[in-house]
Amino acid sequence: MHKKTIEVIMGDKAEGKLDPSKKGVEMAGPPKEQEVTAHGQQVYVTCPHCNSVRFVYLEYEGEWFTCANCGSSYSVTI
Ligand SMILES: [Zn+2]
Repeated sequence: MHKKTIEVIMGDKAEGKLDPSKKGVEMAGPPKEQEVTAHGQQVYVTCPHCNSVRFVYLEYEGEWFTCANCGSSYSVTI
């Protein structure tokens, strides 16, 4: 009987990595109902492109979001 060894590589969370392809959850304001599965720090930011006030779930410093108002991407740091 052979024993099988399965290597499990736990994927590191994108903590601290500035990856423009992985964007976070962004919306105009906090959801009225707690149905959002996203997590992270809830912060208000101002879009640098259109100056619209955005509400985002920030999971790590420098995370990228797409402004739903003007469609431009921006990175959030606290
Ligand atoms: Zn914008």
